[in-house]
Parts: sequence; C-alpha cells; structure tokens
Amino acid sequence: MLSTMQDVPLTVTRILQHGMTIHGKSQITTWTGEAEPQRRTFAEVGERATRLANALRDELGIDGDQRVATLMWNNAEHVEAYFAIPSMGAVLHTLNLRLPAEQLVWIVNHAADRAVIVNGSLLPLLAPLLPHLPTIEHIVVSGPGDRGLLADTQARVYEYEELIAGRPTTYDWPELDERTAAAMCYTSGTTGDPKGVVYSHRSIYLHSMQVNMAESMGLSDSDTTLVVVPQFHVNAWGLPHATFMTGINMLMPDRFLQPAPLADMIEREKPSHAAAVPTIWQGLLAEVTANPRDLSSMKQVTIGGAACPPALMEAYDKLGVRLCHAWGMTETSPLGTMAHPPAGLSAEEEWPYRVTQGRFPAGVEARLVGPGGEILSWDGESAGELEVRGTWIAGAYYGGAGGEDFRPEDKFSEDGWLKTGDVGVISPDGFLTLTDRAKDVIKSGGEWISSVELENALMAHPEVAEAAVVAVPDDKWGERPLATVVLKEGSTADYETLRAFLAEKIAKWQLPERWAVIPAVPKTSVGKFDKKVIRRQYADGELDVTQL
Ligand code: ADP
Repeated sequence: MLSTMQDVPLTVTRILQHGMTIHGKSQITTWTGEAEPQRRTFAEVGERATRLANALRDELGIDGDQRVATLMWNNAEHVEAYFAIPSMGAVLHTLNLRLPAEQLVWIVNHAADRAVIVNGSLLPLLAPLLPHLPTIEHIVVSGPGDRGLLADTQARVYEYEELIAGRPTTYDWPELDERTAAAMCYTSGTTGDPKGVVYSHRSIYLHSMQVNMAESMGLSDSDTTLVVVPQFHVNAWGLPHATFMTGINMLMPDRFLQPAPLADMIEREKPSHAAAVPTIWQGLLAEVTANPRDLSSMKQVTIGGAACPPALMEAYDKLGVRLCHAWGMTETSPLGTMAHPPAGLSAEEEWPYRVTQGRFPAGVEARLVGPGGEILSWDGESAGELEVRGTWIAGAYYGGAGGEDFRPEDKFSEDGWLKTGDVGVISPDGFLTLTDRAKDVIKSGGEWISSVELENALMAHPEVAEAAVVAVPDDKWGERPLATVVLKEGSTADYETLRAFLAEKIAKWQLPERWAVIPAVPKTSVGKFDKKVIRRQYADGELDVTQL
C-alpha cells in the first residue's frame, strides 16, 4: 500500500524561499576590514540571489545543469551564489582558493565550468590560470581588486553589482527533481588526486535539517554563527543552507581569516557559535593569550575536519568557550558525528565523551571493518576502518566529460558503503573514536601506533605549540614514529624532556626515538596537518633529525 502523503521535492529553492520570507529579518554580516561591516538581511540576500539567477540566465545564458564556479571568500555574495545557481537548476561548483594552481586547473576542466564568480581580491590567483581554462566563457567579478589583470582574457567579464542591478526580483524557478545535482565540491586531496562529490538538492535539504537538530549544531534565530570554515570546504559544513532554514544569523569573515581580525570580530559582533578546523582555534588561542579579548559570547564551537587535541579543548574551557568535536568529510556533506555527551553526566564524566569524535545521527549508518573484511563489534576496543552509508553520503565520484561516475574499490565497498579511510573504534553506546587515518597509522613490528594519540599527548605539553607525528621507514621494525615539534616562543624543552613527558601516558614501545624541531607544521589547503610533506622532507633529508 502506498502512503497518502504529498510528495514534494526537497530542494535548495525551497530553503531559499523559506529563508527570505519567514526569516527575512535575519542577517548576514560580512567583515570588510573597515569601520563598519557590511550588513544584509536574508530578504535582501534572497532578492539579490533572484536577480543573480535572472542575470545568469538572460545575460550569460546559463542553462540546464551547466556548472557555475565560485572562487570566493565567505561573504554575502557567495551566499547569493549558493542559492541562485542551484535554484535555477544549474550546479554550483565551489573552488578551493588554497589549492595549487595545477590542481585548480585540473578541477575546473574536469567539471567543465562555464562561468566563474570571483572576488576581486582573488584575481591575481585566477588571471594566470585563464589561458588553461578553455571552458570558462564568463567571469563575474565581485568586490575590490585589480580588474586590469583580466585585460587579456577571451572570456566576457562582468561587474557583479552591475550585472544584477535592475534585474527582475522574481524568477520562474523550475520544478526540480530532488535527486538532481545542486552543488559540487572536490576533495581537497590530502591523500591523493581530487575527486568530485556532487550533492543533490535532496541531500543538501536533509543534511541541513540534521545540522539544525539539537544533537548536531542545534541553533536558532537568536543565534549568530561565525562561519570560519570556508564556503569552498564542503559547503561551509552546511551552514549557509541550515541558517536559511531556521533564521540563524551569519557572521562572515571574508578574507580576514588571521587570528587578530577573528578575535576582533568575535569581541565586537558577539557570535554565539562558530565553526572551524583545529588550526584556526590554535591560532586564535595564541592571539588571545598574547592580546586578551572577550570570546565568551561563543556558547558552543563546532570543531572538526581534523582531530581536536584535548589540550585545546581544555584551554578553551578555561575561556568559557565549549568546543564540540565533529567528524566528517567531503563525501559525507560533511556531517558524520558530533560529540555531545549523553545527558545527566557531571563535567568529569562528560570529558571522555567530549574527546571522542562523537555519535552518529539517524541519517548516518556506520560499521567498522577489520583487516580481513570482517565486521567488528562496537566494544570500544576492536579497531577497524569506518564505513558509512546514508542519504547525504556519496555513493560515487563525478566522472566528468560525459563519463560514467566512478566507484574506486578503495573508496566504496561492493555493497555500496563509503570506505572512509579512517581507522577507529566505536563504544557500545555508539561513540566513535578515531585512532588514525589508514594512511597515517604507524605500522611498527606488526603492531599499530596511532600518530594522533602521540600528537595529542605531545600537544598537552605546556611548551609545545604544535606536533605532528609520521611513520618513517625503519630497518628493524618496518616503520617507526618520527615526532616533529613546534615549540612555543622562549621554550627550552629538549627531546629527552618531551620523551619523558610522553612516557607518562604512552606505552614505552610506542615512544618515538626520532625527533625534529620544525618552525611550523605544514598545512593542507583547508588547514589540516599535511603529513605527506613531512614524510617527503624526511625522505629528502631536509629535517634536522635527532635520534635518541
Ligand atoms: P581531505 O580528505 O582532502 O582532507 P576532507 O575535508 O574531506 O578532505 O577530509 C576528511 C577527513 O578529515 C576524514 O576522513 C578524517 O580523516 C579527517 N577528519 C575530519 N574530522 C575529523 C575529526 N574530528 N577527527 C579526526 N579526523 C577528522
């Protein structure tokens, strides 16, 4: 028997229409670096998105599922593109502005982007690539920057504000199939070539509802979220869509992502929530330690994208800011888990739950798979590769150029689950603890050493600013850990001291014998530790390694 319920498609268009009317007074505040930030209501952003859609169709001739790329910071115009492009049936392709040039070229060509909306400040990045981007016919420039850089391009160039000025404020939005493409994002390639993940209207809609649930970020129209996580990093973790559903105000840093302006923004605009990767919070902590600011408006901060060192959580607890750990990936939209402890626990009892990656929502099913392909039990001890499936989890990668989508064996199981490449355990009450990435784990004499555990233990030392541990080849054991450490200014800690500090928490056979002090841990395009680079530096003899 079929149900008697209506079958209304779940679309980004619906989120736009809802946000701009029901939550029309909610605001997007974009940092400008000047005395006053730019402020725009959801009603205004919705109207401008509608005018942008008209311009893209009537002036640029964007049609069907053509890809429109954005090369932009987090700002109101980028949110306008987020809604205009998918709502008209086209596909938003957010470009990661921190990728190396050749990867950006590869990605734009693979997606066959027809137009790009670019912030003026990013023209020095885009302009030299244009001769290699034959599919780009239109360039729309928004905000300050040197337009002269585009003098030689074959593509047509438009000013964003001129383009949308005077356009109709209504659009005959198409009836879209909720399963069609709305947006695409390439994995940032921490481990290998970029791969295109294509989100559907339906997956974005359902993911947004999850972001808004109390067990996830749980915000409302009395909240303001500081969206530090870039809009090119997995749709800013779904926040632009989720905020339009429930009227959460957004504070957008634009290009002012350094610790000092972030601290100023927080003190002045008093966001109640924020979202970013651990390196951002490390930098902000150093800034407010040196030049104190009031961060206490932030009731809750979502931290993820890489493991959050427990010492960082403790440091923010002392500032009255609670970091909530989350796990996810480009392929999971990205919300996978969030670490809200079970109800009714004391602060002390909550702690072991807070330092896990968290619990899965109903929309994400999880299993752990052992080395022999066996499904492991959730006993908090059996470690295996995490596999997930659900309505906002990728089932394939974009093939490009008319090709079939592809499902590499190392990424998808035969029965259709996503292989995350993350290794961990799940407790009987469903909390995930990741011990490592499959590619980062140190395989020493048939036993596994977690690089993350060593890093967390090192970063708990008061004189250590950052630490990254990688596997290096070892004649006797196969692999052994190499500890690379960034010391805080004025530190006098030596390797023996650090090793003795580790020995208080870590089994003796896991203690690194190779050590190197480095000026900074190399970071990926989205601010994660780039261990590939450290492994290469070691192999090339570029590190000054001491063996204890
Ligand atoms: P990339 O794979 O290129 O780094 P993603 O942003 O998709 O790009 O990264 C997803 C990966 O980031 C996960 O598979 C996991 O290894 C790591 N990650 C994300 N959140 C966490 C977390 N809270 N703890 C540990 N690792 C995390």
